[in-house]
Amino acid sequence: MIYLDHSSTTPPSGAALRAMNEAAALWGNPSSVHTVGREAAALLLDCREKVARALGLPKFHDGKLLFTSCGTESNNLAILGCADAKKRDPEKPGTVLLSAGEHPSVSGPADLLGKRGYAVERIPTRGGTLDLGALEAVLDAAESEGRPVVVAAFMLVNNETGALYDVKAAAEMTKKYFPDALVHCDAVQGFLKTGFTPAKLGADSLTVSAHKVGGIRGAAALYLSETVIRRRLVVPVMPGGGQEDGFRSGTEALVPIAAFAAAAEEGRLAFEERRKTAEELRARLETLLAPMESLGVRINRPVNGIPDIISVKAGRMRSETVLNDLSGRGICVSAGSACSARSKKKSEALSAFGLSAEEADSVIRVSLSHLNTPEEIDAFAAALEEILRTRQAKR
Ligand code: PLP
Repeated sequence: MIYLDHSSTTPPSGAALRAMNEAAALWGNPSSVHTVGREAAALLLDCREKVARALGLPKFHDGKLLFTSCGTESNNLAILGCADAKKRDPEKPGTVLLSAGEHPSVSGPADLLGKRGYAVERIPTRGGTLDLGALEAVLDAAESEGRPVVVAAFMLVNNETGALYDVKAAAEMTKKYFPDALVHCDAVQGFLKTGFTPAKLGADSLTVSAHKVGGIRGAAALYLSETVIRRRLVVPVMPGGGQEDGFRSGTEALVPIAAFAAAAEEGRLAFEERRKTAEELRARLETLLAPMESLGVRINRPVNGIPDIISVKAGRMRSETVLNDLSGRGICVSAGSACSARSKKKSEALSAFGLSAEEADSVIRVSLSHLNTPEEIDAFAAALEEILRTRQAKR
């Protein structure tokens, strides 16, 4: 089997599996004050420090790193928790900004706020670049119409195209107009794939998820800056026992959290080496795909991007057909992103590359990891060429 779908999920690393088994033996509740609980609490603290370190956060920083169950939950908590944080005019509660092509775990809560009366503005990402001119125009209009921006969500790396957005510039521009806005960054696809810290991005809150970096499903994190805490820009959306400093109730799931922390630590230490591997694999794949232009193969290449995600227009075939044929040969890739494939909605990220809905339907996403080999890349390229030659000859 050749697995080239690491942005959907990636296998747990050996270190993550070991950490998970060790954590399972520490079954105590971290909130209990007795020794069994304290052992679990000590492990939880160690895990928090490991994930914080991988995010470039100083050990005793003033912000908070909360554990949640998944990236989706972290994004929902930041956005909905921010909307709930302050009393707002029900007639004119304000504006929610987001980049076009955000993951549904960001656009979903934004649209929900739209139903509650917020103005929802999407900033275009032409060619995989956040359109800062359009952002400025939206901010200007929001200011003159008295609809203050409450939340602005800018993803770091797009899950469909690998585009790396200039979150810092967008955050600075937003704050210039609306210093009280929460700038949220969904960094799920950027974590351990590109160097950043929340402060360098100008993000007040930031999401990362375990199962994209070699942990297991069931854990993720939400970073909240010191400003968010001090000014209460986010409040809990789920009442309960008050775990995670009251922001996310529910007894902490130490097993996936321990796997997450081990994988994050491993990813931090191997960062440079893994970047080099991803770049080499991508370069190899691009070289092999270039002669397939005559078959209609084209890479949707963002101006700035991470090497790991390659969005490929697979000739004139529907992606579903190509995926099935590849799957029959033991090769796993996905169509656009796994989530948008399910929703069947037109992909905003792909239309930003000038693709029609029909063309976007021919796009497959290849996502790499340090676990892949040059031989796997060669086998994928050969299989794709053969599938397109055979299928397209019949049409
Ligand atoms: N954000 C992005 C950009 C993603 O790609 C994903 C998952 O594909 C998520 C958020 C959701 O993360 P999770 O699967 O942990 O809920």
